[in-house]
Amino acid sequence: MAYGVLDNYNPKRLPLPEDGEGILVKGPRKIDVPDNPIIPFIEGDGVGPDIWKATYQVIDAAVKKAYGSKRKISWYEVYAGQKCFDKFGKWLIQDTLDAFSHYIVGIKGPLTTPIGGGFRSLNVTLRQILDLYACIRPVKYYEGVPSPMKEPHKIDMVIYRENTEDVYAGIEWKMGTPAARKLIDFLNNEMENETHRKISFDSGIGIKPISEFASKRIMEHAIWYASKFGRKSISIMHKGNIMKYTEGAFKNWCYEAAAAHPDLCITEEALYSQYAGKLPEGKILIKDRIADSMFQQIHTRPDEYDMIVTPNLNGDFISDAAVSLVGGLGIGPGSNIGDVVGIFEATHGTAPKYANMDKINPGSLILSGAMMLDYMEWTEAAELIRSGLIKAIANKTVTYDFARQMPGSTEIKCSEFGKKIVDNM
Ligand code: NAP
Repeated sequence: MAYGVLDNYNPKRLPLPEDGEGILVKGPRKIDVPDNPIIPFIEGDGVGPDIWKATYQVIDAAVKKAYGSKRKISWYEVYAGQKCFDKFGKWLIQDTLDAFSHYIVGIKGPLTTPIGGGFRSLNVTLRQILDLYACIRPVKYYEGVPSPMKEPHKIDMVIYRENTEDVYAGIEWKMGTPAARKLIDFLNNEMENETHRKISFDSGIGIKPISEFASKRIMEHAIWYASKFGRKSISIMHKGNIMKYTEGAFKNWCYEAAAAHPDLCITEEALYSQYAGKLPEGKILIKDRIADSMFQQIHTRPDEYDMIVTPNLNGDFISDAAVSLVGGLGIGPGSNIGDVVGIFEATHGTAPKYANMDKINPGSLILSGAMMLDYMEWTEAAELIRSGLIKAIANKTVTYDFARQMPGSTEIKCSEFGKKIVDNM
């Protein structure tokens, strides 16, 4: 049976679950999920085992409550990180990559970044090899969560960060190296007519590539998300006033991608010139904002931001800034999705000082699990998870990170928080 973007999966080291089938691919972002899908998971390092245990129990309970015995997930453990190294002597194995390509939807806990392992980060490696170009992080306030905002309930936005380009492409030269000197020499002498300025020889050099292809495909992905999940606006966040041919071009290419969907998208200019400022039913408003202004606007006018699409570095900054307004790392879900393959993950790291203490907040991975169920169109189960979590927080039964900021709350363990979500579904 052909599933996924990799037709045949013949794992050498990872035995398959006893039952279950793969998710079928019907086209870009179109999948057909069987009632008993095989879903690969990476438990993760540090606090990974604690949060994964709480998470799969919550997901299984939600699926059972929503669909009875009709639907069930067959979890399939695959390996990366420390556990993979201990078992197979490698930080990442091919069977793991192939499992995600074949089974399409997967979930993972945080991974330690190996030092001297030959690559900068396992997460970046997974994203690059599987071409998971859209980093999607919903940022939403849940009643009762500690927040520094006066009106945190106004925050409900989805951040779309381009995952493959920008300064993260890692094209850099260290100050004083022959390559850096050669490049500076070339720019100062051969390109003088273009640059009109001299670069000091004691500079390190980094390259910021932003392409038409990658900009248009992240915008396409964001438009798909907005239309699927009923989002009303997409703000293109950029620093195009300074970086015209990278960030400015990103903005222009995003508008061009939106213009290819006149049935769905209208610009801010058209909104006022043709619709008297009132968004027609079913349309998505496309606007753009300068990156620095957005850092203040998500504080002062957060309800004006429904979705944000942005290059890699801006996306890194704005997503952590936004999640800090709604309870922080412990509760921010995330996913990395390509044309079809999607890996849903905790957005925090391995928090090693809390490893195996059954203490940390599992909310980030649990809500990422709910996102995964949304992607599979098992929406009823996803809603049960969110409503259970909201009630557990409203009852002030929370893990240490919230308890220390919520007067009158009862601190409970990671596993107990998972059980409270299930009890409150
Ligand atoms: P971290 O693991 O995210 O932890 C930093 C701090 O954030 C924790 O000490 C804790 O703060 C708070 N925190 C994190 N997760 C939390 C949760 N679930 N609930 C409540 N509080 C939480 O960051 P790090 O210490 O910089 O990184 C540790 C390792 O993780 C590194 O190897 C790094 O490379 C890796 N990492 C992996 C990923 C990933 O796999 N996606 C992402 C980031 C980092 P308090 O101590 O104040 O309570």
